[in-house]
Amino acid sequence: MGYYKIAVVGAGYVGLVSACGFAELGHSVVCVDKDGERVSKLKDGILPIYEPGLEDLLRRKLSDGSLRFSDDLKEASEWAQVIFICVGTPPREDGSADLSQVEEVARGIASVINDYKLIVEKSTVPVKTAQWIKRTIELYGGKGKDYDVASNPEFLREGSALYDFFNPDRIVIGVESERAESILRDVYSKLSAPILVTDINTAEIIKHASNSFLAMKISFINMIADLCEVVGADVKKVAKGMGLDKRIGEAFLNAGIGYGGSCFPKDLKAFIRIAEEHNVDFSLLKEVERINESRVKRFLRKIKSVMWVLKDKEFAIWGLSFKPNTDDIREAPSLKIAPLLLAEGVSLRLYDPKAMDNFRRVFPPSDRVRYFDDPYSALRGAHALVILTEWDEFKRVELSKVKELLLTPIVFDGRNVYDPEEVRAVGLEYYPVGRGSLSR
Ligand code: NAD
Repeated sequence: MGYYKIAVVGAGYVGLVSACGFAELGHSVVCVDKDGERVSKLKDGILPIYEPGLEDLLRRKLSDGSLRFSDDLKEASEWAQVIFICVGTPPREDGSADLSQVEEVARGIASVINDYKLIVEKSTVPVKTAQWIKRTIELYGGKGKDYDVASNPEFLREGSALYDFFNPDRIVIGVESERAESILRDVYSKLSAPILVTDINTAEIIKHASNSFLAMKISFINMIADLCEVVGADVKKVAKGMGLDKRIGEAFLNAGIGYGGSCFPKDLKAFIRIAEEHNVDFSLLKEVERINESRVKRFLRKIKSVMWVLKDKEFAIWGLSFKPNTDDIREAPSLKIAPLLLAEGVSLRLYDPKAMDNFRRVFPPSDRVRYFDDPYSALRGAHALVILTEWDEFKRVELSKVKELLLTPIVFDGRNVYDPEEVRAVGLEYYPVGRGSLSR
């Protein structure tokens, strides 16, 4: 195998994990970000995000010299043989992907192509983006230069991103030349995952199709949960019974208050737009989105139906991140539920193991928004506990203590963390999602 000089552009969740991962695989890596403050902290080994295991790896790679950070895209691009684009592709107002960060990077690279470069899109992008990257490179100084553009979509999950980097289910490589294919095979040669080589358009679609499919599974099971709630069945057992069928699989069949995060909502929207732009009627995905958007309202209706009057009540909220093991709150249900409860006159007592700093920036502490350092303190005197993220820490709490600390012993569990019988056995009223009727 060959070792490469790799530039990773964008020091966010994907860029940082990839940069540290490539360095660990033996490559020499520079990670570039235009945010100078972020870069200077990273040079000191300080991570701007929380991701299990990443800080350790970052420090090891900084100290063995295989990884460095820079805010100079041009210098990094001149130096590197392979350039991975890992910048953000946020949604625009109409749902389509905003590709301005990708274009900016392509322009930056174009002017400094000296010898052969392999430019790889790792950001999640709409089909045909590689063609636009090539056109941009041609327009901004790359015409006649020796380079390839390839697609290598990223499938890591926040919270287990490092594990996913080193143990992917598959590596998808979309290429137009044997040279590009052989370099990317080499870059990943130490990983044992199957490598699927396709044309570039296909690779781009694989990423959007995968995320849309997973989102569809979640919306599907959430509708089953609604039915279970009405007829008195248990969605967890239904999901188990379905998931044991190998054709279905158990993953992504957890009913709750819906998916969030920086990927599913935005990627689904972008894929819907792509289908529309190409006159393909993919209304199935619109329904997936509609179901997801209705989850929070339904959860709130449930809370109101149990609590009767919300005004001047205090609620403890456990879990602010969009899923466990991350500090990421982008598109988290907590961001929708907190303002709705505040508008009803509820005061919030908040706890999350990692996401409180990010949440504080959106909801600064006040008389009605208070933050606590441990889950139990958040409960003291509250009229109800509302669970929005299934952190392991919540699974391990002493339920009798929860009962003792709450003013009124009511638990709304948006993530089905507990066994209903165990919770009810300690005298708590328990309202999970899709597990029997609303009986107490
Ligand atoms: P992020 O917002 O955490 O990070 C993006 C970084 O790019 C930021 O630090 C930003 O400062 C930097 N950046 C923007 N423009 C730049 C430029 N011109 N030059 C240098 N740096 C620049 O984003 P993320 O969550 O890491 O996601 C990146 C891409 O990967 C997105 O397309 C996303 O959809 C995709 N993706 C994300 C995940 C995930 O779990 N977060 C998983 C798979 C794929």
